[in-house]
Amino acid sequence: MEYNNLIQVSQYFKDEKTCKEHLAKLRWSGNVTCPFCNHDKVYVTKAGYKCANPKCYKKFTATVGTFFENTKISLRKWFLAIYIMTSHKKGISSLQLSKDIGVTQKTAWFMAHRIREMLRAKNPTMLRGIIEADETYIGGKNKNRHWDKKVKGNQGRSLKDKSVVIGLYQRNGMIISKPIENTTTKIIPQAIKENVKKGSHLITDELSAYVMFDGNYKHSIIKHAQGEYANGKIHTNTIEGFWSLLKRGIIGIYHQVSEKHLEKYCNEFNFRYNTKDFNEQNRFDKSITQCTGRLKYNELIAE
Ligand SMILES: [Zn+2]
Repeated sequence: MEYNNLIQVSQYFKDEKTCKEHLAKLRWSGNVTCPFCNHDKVYVTKAGYKCANPKCYKKFTATVGTFFENTKISLRKWFLAIYIMTSHKKGISSLQLSKDIGVTQKTAWFMAHRIREMLRAKNPTMLRGIIEADETYIGGKNKNRHWDKKVKGNQGRSLKDKSVVIGLYQRNGMIISKPIENTTTKIIPQAIKENVKKGSHLITDELSAYVMFDGNYKHSIIKHAQGEYANGKIHTNTIEGFWSLLKRGIIGIYHQVSEKHLEKYCNEFNFRYNTKDFNEQNRFDKSITQCTGRLKYNELIAE
């Protein structure tokens, strides 16, 4: 049986037992491992598992060490929420989510944030090849503000009450977007160095910070100020398309996003973009496989 739409998801994950089994399957790929000591011999018990390592012998279930641990919300609701959030191109408001799965808005808000945390790229890889690099400003539209709340000098690229997000797109590959402190000649090259392999070919607009590379990258510049938007392969159209999606989502669905949470929204939009060629079922499963990583018991114990 498939689960490629909401009805199928609801039917397939009909009870907690099915959800737990699915979680275990994706998490351990059939080879259950103790989340406390990483031992790979375990006993199956009525309530879950028991580690077979005599030094450990701890009991656990599939949710231990995941984002679902200690939750009072049923896995069924979590799964529905994850499906809804990862399949809606522009995202979904916590109010709508609360109605869809039958929880309070406060609970839905909390769940949505935890899910965004889960969607953060695990083991992110360095981008390589041809890379579109661009930045955008989120929030703070002066013209929508009451006169006494207007911020002076807020037109265009000012950070007085906006946040800046950098976006890096590897042609035919992944997008990475995340908030950065500012667009100085220090911060932007640093963000690129952390995410793009040396020797790659960067395509950017003419913003001065990008000019400051130290020769580690090939660099082509598209001159927007002169009305140039594409010159064969030299364009930043993909990343600009991503910005319009992100902005429509944030303005249309979330209305407003605090700087504190902006990174989580970027995670959400990155994940959806980077799985856009997946079918719904594979995208859902991919998100579930990212459920570990919040609490790593073996790391905690190693302290
Ligand atoms: Zn163990």
